[in-house]
Amino acid sequence: MRIARFTTGSDPRYALVQGEEGSLELAVLRGDPIYTPIELTGERVPLDRDDVRLLAPVIPRSKIVGVGRNYADHAAEMGHELPVEPLLFLKPNTTVIGPDDPIVLPPWTREASYEAELAVVIGKVTKSVSPERALDQVFGYTVANDMTARDAQRTDGQWARAKGFDTSCPLGPWIVPGLDVDDLAVRARVDGELRQDGRTSQLVFDVAHLIAYISEAFTLLPGDVILTGTPAGVGPIDHGQVVEVEVEEIGVLRNPVLRRD
Ligand code: MG
Repeated sequence: MRIARFTTGSDPRYALVQGEEGSLELAVLRGDPIYTPIELTGERVPLDRDDVRLLAPVIPRSKIVGVGRNYADHAAEMGHELPVEPLLFLKPNTTVIGPDDPIVLPPWTREASYEAELAVVIGKVTKSVSPERALDQVFGYTVANDMTARDAQRTDGQWARAKGFDTSCPLGPWIVPGLDVDDLAVRARVDGELRQDGRTSQLVFDVAHLIAYISEAFTLLPGDVILTGTPAGVGPIDHGQVVEVEVEEIGVLRNPVLRRD
């Protein structure tokens, strides 16, 4: 199952994405499936209709929790040791944009990098859950680009600005519930050229352990999102380029990059 959030010009609605690539249809849902049982309205909308636009599949209700250095090869390329516990940071929900929305680079960074990541969407209020029960708290999975102003990350100390600027968290194209995420390809392409090609089997801390660890610090609310870290191959992107991030069995999230200064 794939759950999308979309607009045809008015209020956002939710839908199941059905059919094959090239002839995808939206089977419209009543309400928000994170909070209400899935119920079809009967309306069907072709995804390629001119007035249809996919939106970020979720706007995190309270927070996005990021995890740094959670792939050994990425930690090594940045010159860091592996963390002995997950390294956490927060992105505000104002970072979220959807498929095809522009990533707008702020004037104070000259080194903004893409980071392809598996994203976990929380489905239930979660506090101090054990790793064994953690996956019961998951609503589904989507794809994220954890955009990072690498220069500000180095100079600021805290990562709030480097990882929290507006448009720095593209999410989408939809949410896939019930997915086995133990060994999925995680990729990034810039202008069609493959830059990252890792697998979730390389995660230092897996999804269940991340949820358990994070929930010892924060109460996770339905709609909150966890970014699970990025594999090796990160690099800068700039105005006029297009970045695509992909997780196998979920889909491809594409965003153009703009600089307005
Ligand atoms: Mg990241």
